[in-house]
Amino acid sequence: MPMEIPKKFNVGAHTYKVYLQANAEGYRGAVGWCAPSPGYYIVVRTKFSNKKQTPEQMFQTFWHEAVHAFLFDMQHPLNKDEDFVDKLGTYIAETIKTAEY
Ligand SMILES: [Zn+2]
Repeated sequence: MPMEIPKKFNVGAHTYKVYLQANAEGYRGAVGWCAPSPGYYIVVRTKFSNKKQTPEQMFQTFWHEAVHAFLFDMQHPLNKDEDFVDKLGTYIAETIKTAEY
């Protein structure tokens, strides 16, 4: 399964748009971020500190940020736990990457 990043997807009642950006504004110290209400979008950086992000890194970043979107929708306190979010994002990315049909 290719490591595809969607352009948009739904979480609960909302549609999130996904932007791949080399030079993103805001959150300069991050490889990506999730902006829920009211914007509902995710940014995945294609470059960070002048280093190109690999497709694998971007796929991982996307799923990390998607987990934030899920937990935001659930209003779950684990949304603030970056370690939990990162591990769950890694599991999802790994599952999709290794799935056979
Ligand atoms: Zn995070």
